Amino acid sequence: MKLTELIARHNELNQALQSDEVWYSFELFPPKTERGRENLRIKLNQLAELEPLIVDITWGAGGSSNTTSLRICKRAQQLHGLNTMLHLTCVSMTREELKQVLQSAKEKGIQNILALRGDIPKGGKKVDNGLNHAVDLVKFIRSLHEDYFGICVAGYPEVHEEAESPEKDLFYLKQKVDAGADMIISQMFFDPKIFLDFKNKCREIGIKCPIIPGIMPIMSYSGFTRMTKFTTVNVPKEITEELEKIKDDKIKVIDFGVNTCVKMCKELIKEGVEGIHIYCLNQFRPVERIIKGLSLRSSRYRRPYPWRRSTIQKRRGETIRPVFWTFRPESYIYLTNKWKTFPKKEWNGTGFRRIKPKILKKMHPWKSPVRTKQINSIDDIVKTFKDFAKGEIYSLPWRERRLNLTIEPMTEKIISAIQNRIFLINIQPRLNGILSKNQLHGFGGPGGYIYQKRYIEFFIAPERIKLLVQVLKASGNLHYHATNCDGSVVYTNNTERDVISITWAVFPGKSIIQPVVVDPDCFQNVWSKEAFDLWIYQWRDFFLEGTKSWKILQEIHDTYFLVNVVDNDFIHSSSQTEYNVYKTLNTFFIKEKKLQEKKIKEQIHFKNLEKIEKENKILKEKLKELGIKIPLNSIKKENK
Ligand code: FAD
Repeated sequence: MKLTELIARHNELNQALQSDEVWYSFELFPPKTERGRENLRIKLNQLAELEPLIVDITWGAGGSSNTTSLRICKRAQQLHGLNTMLHLTCVSMTREELKQVLQSAKEKGIQNILALRGDIPKGGKKVDNGLNHAVDLVKFIRSLHEDYFGICVAGYPEVHEEAESPEKDLFYLKQKVDAGADMIISQMFFDPKIFLDFKNKCREIGIKCPIIPGIMPIMSYSGFTRMTKFTTVNVPKEITEELEKIKDDKIKVIDFGVNTCVKMCKELIKEGVEGIHIYCLNQFRPVERIIKGLSLRSSRYRRPYPWRRSTIQKRRGETIRPVFWTFRPESYIYLTNKWKTFPKKEWNGTGFRRIKPKILKKMHPWKSPVRTKQINSIDDIVKTFKDFAKGEIYSLPWRERRLNLTIEPMTEKIISAIQNRIFLINIQPRLNGILSKNQLHGFGGPGGYIYQKRYIEFFIAPERIKLLVQVLKASGNLHYHATNCDGSVVYTNNTERDVISITWAVFPGKSIIQPVVVDPDCFQNVWSKEAFDLWIYQWRDFFLEGTKSWKILQEIHDTYFLVNVVDNDFIHSSSQTEYNVYKTLNTFFIKEKKLQEKKIKEQIHFKNLEKIEKENKILKEKLKELGIKIPLNSIKKENK
């Protein structure tokens, strides 16, 4: 979507929600290494959760990373559901090359360009008959593609270093806007007053478009000093003095960077800026802290669906997804990428493809301390799941994203289930008619009501599955599906194999939407294969073949069951009745314990009998030796 449309939509929603939330955009750069690219993929996943209005990807004026920039924009739109803006510099590119890049951007569905002159790289030279200034690029884009692209340009609150004069710099900035730019993003600055003065001057000379402050959070001392050396940016004395004091403590520097940034942004928001552009430097956590610090996290409820829809044209009709891929959305999009349309009738499994293990491994190299920790017993696996639930481990093979404990509180019941060797991989809370503008679980804009059934999904050991199924069956108001890795043993009470809606919403004047479902065929034929594969490709394979860790993980894959349970009672609150699903699990644990106790008692009894028989035999032999004859039943009686 174009910038102008995105801003208009944001403002409309603000009006409907009676909110004055500002929007924010994130700037990222294309990494040079394979590891950097993988890191960016994970960061994009995380940054997407912060609901930026747009994400922009920088452009190497030397041309080295240009195809990467285009590719990242495409992936961010397709896999992460983000709107993107491609930076494009003109100074060392021919008109033909620029034409090709613009065409390629259009074909990839990219609708926004940050039009820049760029700087000629060391050893490089200006191309013949090329474009000299950003204004020429703006004109070039408009002449070729008219209104197709939203265009942004760069502005310099502290004047561009090559400018003839501050007045001339502003004059040329106005030229860029008059040539067709929709918005200005500023160079970084560290004194809000400088930006506000610049904005005022722009208004005075008749620039009417949005002027957005570019904010660079200080993330490391060395990075900061390097960056400020290259630019003519003025750094207030308080900042340099404080930084000098803490420069050897990385954590303190980040804390200071976040706090300074929040303080600056608060001041700018108070003065009426409508958006904030953050130079993220491909980081997530400091950016998340800044957004939280500005209380802007609530933006989550602005998304149309509980999951993020791709921004590419083909997937715009997508309105429904299975719950299974909630925490692996990229994988789901990958799987369904060949679909031409997204009607419900394609739900019955046929459209899904299994991701090749090789691609899967490449796509999700699971980074976590667990990966390298040796596994000596099932207890180590239990501990891993427990540590994840407590937020101490950031990811599991089934969940790349860290748990958000505000949205997904890990109650005692959940922790207790994990302690009881229930390896939880997905949980959805129960919602009964909450407002669609609810800041934690809302979606779809204002005016609606959201309903949701509690859903849990977990792996369980094979010797426990029959009793579990018995208890689930007896519970009355639960639906369950369970399968082993090859699908040779299946348990379910959904005999009609109905697709069960587990999230639905009602909006005024619209038909009910049902964006999240449990599809038994999809679970059986597609998701369970992927979920079991993850034990192998995302965990077992990090260990040497034949080691204890490797064997334990292989055995889990080969023998365990994957179970999902839908709690149909979405009405009763926890105070009226205990959550059905956890109550049922508890019943299962109690029954299992009783059975185990009975078994132990029986074993002790049999051992005692064996002991008595052995003693009788010895006694009999001794009596025989002594030539004493006593009837056998009287010996038994004595022993008893
Ligand atoms: P211009 O607008 O062309 O201005 C450059 C200089 O020329 C100024 O001094 C101006 O006063 C003067 N000038 C402008 N028009 C005329 C004219 N018609 N006649 C005479 N003089 C004129 N660089 C990258 O390589 N890749 C990126 O992805 C990138 N992203 C950026 C993002 C932002 C938000 C910003 C602020 C900068 C970014 N840059 C990037 C840096 C940018 O390329 C440099 O600052 C570059 O030196 C100027 O680019 P510009 O588009 O502002 O140039």
